[in-house]
Amino acid sequence: MAVIRPSSFAEWLERVAPAEVKRNEPLAPWCSVRAGGPADVLFRPKTPDSLVTALAMAKDSGTPVSILGLGANTLVGDLGVRGLTLKLPNSTFQEEIALDPAGGTFVLSAGASIARLVTLMKQHQLVGAEFLAGVPGTIGGAVTMNAGTKNGECMSRVVAIEVATADGLGWIPPPTFRYRHTDVPAGAVITRAKFRLPTGDVAASQAAMDADLGYRKRTQPLSQPNFGSVFTNPPGHAAGALIEKTGLKGHTIGGAQISTLHANWIVNLGDAKAHDVTSLMALAQTRVRETSGVELTPEVKRIGEFLP
Ligand SMILES: Cc1cc2nc3c(=O)[nH]c(=O)nc-3n(C[C@H](O)[C@H](O)[C@H](O)COP(=O)(O)OP(=O)(O)OC[C@H]3O[C@@H](n4cnc5c(N)ncnc54)[C@H](O)[C@@H]3O)c2cc1C
Repeated sequence: MAVIRPSSFAEWLERVAPAEVKRNEPLAPWCSVRAGGPADVLFRPKTPDSLVTALAMAKDSGTPVSILGLGANTLVGDLGVRGLTLKLPNSTFQEEIALDPAGGTFVLSAGASIARLVTLMKQHQLVGAEFLAGVPGTIGGAVTMNAGTKNGECMSRVVAIEVATADGLGWIPPPTFRYRHTDVPAGAVITRAKFRLPTGDVAASQAAMDADLGYRKRTQPLSQPNFGSVFTNPPGHAAGALIEKTGLKGHTIGGAQISTLHANWIVNLGDAKAHDVTSLMALAQTRVRETSGVELTPEVKRIGEFLP
């Protein structure tokens, strides 16, 4: 296959693929922690074919590809993201709803919000996705991260995923998954996910969501920009308790702070750089290693180039 070397990858994409293409687009507004640099090229496909075309062009030209959902679990480097950053509009992929006496099957676009699944569950008097109420993000992000709480995880409700690669688009069985991780095939972009929800006790379902949302309001710094839990919980430990034990709660570097409300959350006080956030993360890891002998693993995903 001939290697394609466009003088400007963005210009080239604009010509061949129906899409919104933005150059040097700041990504901080697209991420919940509101920090980080720009994307060289932000690409929002308007049709499934234009996504496949872009992936093929990226592959042929050796252009790196990053994917952003709602950016609720992503930290973008201050030096920005080289190559192509994909952000899928909800409307590019079609939603499908099929109901039967035992429950419902919902095909949701990867760019749709997680809240859409919870809304459909409630609307059709179904149960089983309560643990996703209050989790910000897209369907693509929820599947990739296997988002959830101690009460359940996203992939337990997924029966198939549709993925795009440079070779085309197709449905595959649910990949294997574990705590906050799904084995999405390398290089694949999730375009849709099919969920199965059963009938059940709707009142109990609503009560569980109310309790969960109340708990979030009491314990999480939801009024400040953040990306949720910074570290996964190590087996047998709570990351927040381990960090709190080091005395770092409230510790600030630049514009970033280890939340005074929950030690496993970092908040942006207004002008945080990604470097402030990574410095706090490194400090928390060092202190927890020293005080508890436990290695903290970041839950947040990084894209782009970071200051050393
Ligand atoms: C206030 C708050 C509360 C939170 N509470 C929880 C919680 O209770 N439980 C929990 O699990 N998480 C929680 N999170 C984290 C976050 O909501 C989840 O991880 C969510 O699934 C992220 O979705 P997203 O679309 O924002 O993903 P992003 O952050 O945009 O992306 C996350 C990862 O998924 C990849 N990705 C995104 N879309 C696609 C796609 N279409 N194809 C392939 N890869 C893709 C990205 O490349 C990245 O690696 C919380 C975050 C916040 C800000």
